Amino acid sequence: MSDEVFHAFTEQQWLLIGVGFVWLLSALAVLASHQKKRSSALVACESCRHIGEPGLEKPGSIITEIVLVLLFLPFGAIYGLLREGLEKKCCSDCGSQSVVPINSKRGRELQAEIVSG
Ligand SMILES: [Zn+2]
Repeated sequence: MSDEVFHAFTEQQWLLIGVGFVWLLSALAVLASHQKKRSSALVACESCRHIGEPGLEKPGSIITEIVLVLLFLPFGAIYGLLREGLEKKCCSDCGSQSVVPINSKRGRELQAEIVSG
């Protein structure tokens, strides 16, 4: 990069460009994390014996995430990604986290128990 190009921008402008770049990357990260497909594999609940699509229980709250995104996007993106990583499958009926995939060994056992009553 020649000195002329570098001096075309002041230090403050470079700073703004840098901040803008981080902002853009964070916005992309937030969008990507929200576009992740939900797992559609059926699960069986050990607590209420409901079989169906799992609900997803995320720690933290969407309100906090939105506030963080609005105030300072990079923090919001990190918070959102953390929540995404920590989310757990839960029963969509009773909210219990004791759910097993229906195609696992335990899932098939549960399904047989539920069907046979
Ligand atoms: Zn349940």
